[in-house]
Amino acid sequence: MIIFAVMIDSFYSLRMHSSLKGQHLSGAEGIVSFESLEGETLAMLHRALTHERGCATRIALHVESLAPQDILEGPIPELSTIEVDDVAQGRRAARALLRQEGVSPRAIDRAMQDLAAGAASPGVNMRGAMLIDAATGQRLEPDPCRGIRVSRMDLRASGKALVFEALKQFGAARLRVKEALVLAAKVQAAPAVVAELCWSDDPSYVTGYFCSRTLGYVRITRLKEPGEALGGRVFFVNLQGRVKEELIEFLQRQPFWVTGVPRIHPPRPWRDE
Ligand code: AMP
Repeated sequence: MIIFAVMIDSFYSLRMHSSLKGQHLSGAEGIVSFESLEGETLAMLHRALTHERGCATRIALHVESLAPQDILEGPIPELSTIEVDDVAQGRRAARALLRQEGVSPRAIDRAMQDLAAGAASPGVNMRGAMLIDAATGQRLEPDPCRGIRVSRMDLRASGKALVFEALKQFGAARLRVKEALVLAAKVQAAPAVVAELCWSDDPSYVTGYFCSRTLGYVRITRLKEPGEALGGRVFFVNLQGRVKEELIEFLQRQPFWVTGVPRIHPPRPWRDE
């Protein structure tokens, strides 16, 4: 009886990674309650089996209990959308936002080239994100094939409905947007991170985003061509004497709740300077 009571109060980190013939296919992470653990595990399994790029040939599910007092928290970013005419304009918009955050042209070129060519190796997506020095453009992740996989983060159950309501107003009430926002919120909680850039590796999903603490989460309506199966994430960092391994430990292992409801700005067209 006592054991059951302890379990009811517990949270679990739930992580899924799937691959198809040795290559990254999909992943998902969350923090779930004891009551929802079984249902959420099945939902993640279902995702791996029904991905648009194919049915996974290998699926790893990790479940790990978390002590509630070890979970840190931080705010969800503001949301806005920049409407662009084509990929070239979308990438110019992303470049301008990154420049606003002080990311060097060299670091931006490196990120965009590697995202477009395959971040793990030519033609191959990473399972995690690239870590790029915002000044020098140097890749810093210890394993450039795997990258840094951000995990152990979620919205608190009590805030989920409100966040989905806000996303509905924004025309983006989709699981992928919620998950990207949660990931971006945790990434921006790391002081060494200057900005994030992402475009999906799902061939049908061409909207990407930029995120920073000052400008928030900015969706850019087109960052790649439809049908393109290469994509990824980049975290631009300015370590300034901070220890890289501590940043990686925080991103990969620190349990994190994302709190609040995002403030939403109306979409705006991009105007090249
Ligand atoms: P997605 O937005 O799920 O299409 O993912 C696009 C790319 O972002 C993937 O190919 C990975 O390189 C990267 N990615 C996805 N999930 C994570 C994560 N939890 N942490 C770091 N990078 C990720």
